[in-house]
Amino acid sequence: MTVTNGAASGADELYRIHLLHIDHCPACNKDAECGKGVRLRRAVRAARLAADKRRPRWT
Ligand SMILES: [Zn+2]
Repeated sequence: MTVTNGAASGADELYRIHLLHIDHCPACNKDAECGKGVRLRRAVRAARLAADKRRPRWT
């Protein structure tokens, strides 16, 4: 069964972009403040929440 969960794959994609940014951003590497890093982290969390809502875990 191949079900494409758009929200989940979107969150994965964002997470990958976030990791890539951390890899290349000296500020994020030093745990310093980085506007882009904060924005990306927020986007990842929002996407994760959206993905969770689409498959609730009340089984
Ligand atoms: Zn950064």
